[in-house]
Amino acid sequence: MIKVCKFGGTSMADGNTIRRVAEILRADPARRYVVVSAPGKRFGGDVKVTDLLYAAHTELERTGACGESFRKACERFRSIVSELGLAFEIEELLAETEREIERERSVDFTASRGEYLAARIMAAFLEIPFIDARDVVKFRADGSLDGERTFTLTANALRGKRYAVVSGFYGEGADGKVRTFSRGGSDVSGAIVARAAGADLYENWTDVSGFLAADPRIVDDPERITALSYKELRELSYMGANVLHSDSIFPVREAEIPVLIKNTFRPEDEGTYILPTSKYHFTGKTVTGIAGKQNFTVIHIEKSLMNAEVGFAHRVLGVLLEHNISFEHMPSGIDTMSFVIDSECLKNGVLESLCEDIRKTVRPDGFRVFDDIALIAVVGHGMSRNVGTSAKLFNAIAKAGVNVRMIDQGSSELNIIVGVDNDQYSRTLRAAYEAFFLE
Ligand code: ADP
Ligand code: ASP
Ligand code: MG
Repeated sequence: MIKVCKFGGTSMADGNTIRRVAEILRADPARRYVVVSAPGKRFGGDVKVTDLLYAAHTELERTGACGESFRKACERFRSIVSELGLAFEIEELLAETEREIERERSVDFTASRGEYLAARIMAAFLEIPFIDARDVVKFRADGSLDGERTFTLTANALRGKRYAVVSGFYGEGADGKVRTFSRGGSDVSGAIVARAAGADLYENWTDVSGFLAADPRIVDDPERITALSYKELRELSYMGANVLHSDSIFPVREAEIPVLIKNTFRPEDEGTYILPTSKYHFTGKTVTGIAGKQNFTVIHIEKSLMNAEVGFAHRVLGVLLEHNISFEHMPSGIDTMSFVIDSECLKNGVLESLCEDIRKTVRPDGFRVFDDIALIAVVGHGMSRNVGTSAKLFNAIAKAGVNVRMIDQGSSELNIIVGVDNDQYSRTLRAAYEAFFLE
């Protein structure tokens, strides 16, 4: 039996939490390979090491040298080493890291050092080998993960090692430079190691007792989901339930390795299993979970007989391609078509030039743009079995006095997505949760 364990930022926050991690690992000899994140927040208002490092890069660009933020990050590692009472050459390692950051001058390299240093310290504390993700996790020139190469290199590095610590969040690009995943990417690193180790289980240790049916920062004490399928996880985490990175599923999917979300601070709690869709048993619940994200822009196009005009959608999509913009959803009707796009991608004049090009290309009868839109996704395999799910959802939203700006129901019947104004986001999420979980 092999288990791969990933510990997130709060589990790595200070000497005390790292001692808990060590206890968890010692409690089960099957927990052989460990992936760690950079130290996270120790208390409300604290700053994650990764955020300090992003700030350090901005300072580096401005002044040409590591400044205050880098010093603060160093301080975090110094206190961890001293709290653990570890004989470890931390000063040397920090000085070398500073030199490398100033030489590399790359945002990804700087950000990756949180995981690198955390993993070095963890390996020393546990007295087991350290594997640098740079040597085993490889990206292609287009930035995508080179899965085959990565799994082979990682498996080779693990071979012959009974235990090891691997740094999360980063790898090496085709240009030989360090490259990170998107934020929260140590979850993906953990999944890669699980796949390469041929693990029976990927344990993802965090600061909540499992995947909850809604964001606990918005809904008061939401219920825990006992099990969800890979597909449901994709929908929920992509739509904002960031307890597990949505890309974590790809490395484990083919090998059908289950993922178990556990709480480092309450290891006795059961947690949540994320299972291959084929092994997932219907729980009887209509809705498995609810998630959401703010700050989208909806571009709405109207043209009579749009449906009959061959190639209409193709031309609109061509304009998006020219602007290198991807969209999240595309709800459509007979004479209407909308695109939901992350507002972040439309900043600095991009929206204006995109709209102008769409107008020129397809000459619509009507054209509207709504911004400050939040999306709420209601997800569950059970929705295809039960009638009346959308009626229930829209009733609840109407009762809460919220105006729905957009609706998209995926053809898989796995989700319903509603768009509302940003300032109605929390209210809508709570109303949806109450409708399906507090009936
Ligand atoms: P880690 O640093 O361990 O990777 P994260 O901060 O990335 O932890 O993820 C855990 C956090 O995700 C929780 O503390 C919680 O606030 C947030 N979260 C958002 N949605 C959910 C959800 N549906 N279930 C559980 N946690 C959620
Ligand atoms: N430390 C990185 C972040 O804050 C990666 C992670 O936590 O998974 O995004
Ligand atoms: Mg995380």
